[in-house]
Amino acid sequence: MRCTICGIRIDSEDNAVEEGWIPYFCGGEIEHEVACPDCTQALLQDGKDGEMEVKEEFRGRLKYLDEKADEGWQDYSDVVSTVLESEPGKLN
Ligand SMILES: [Zn+2]
Repeated sequence: MRCTICGIRIDSEDNAVEEGWIPYFCGGEIEHEVACPDCTQALLQDGKDGEMEVKEEFRGRLKYLDEKADEGWQDYSDVVSTVLESEPGKLN
């Protein structure tokens, strides 16, 4: 399983939920899959329907792995770079 926002992987889906991964979130009009705890904390908020959603200020500024399958996602947006700065070891 892989974070749709920053691309970090987690091996065990069983542990994922315990560690704070969420299975899906709302990115405006489109629903996206899987976000890691760091991205969730930094970029998402509780939406009105009980779903996690991308904070207003980040909408349109993020790239998602499930949007364009291949190229481009390594090109981290400024926002995700900010998230990852605290934990450089996450980038393989
Ligand atoms: Zn992430």
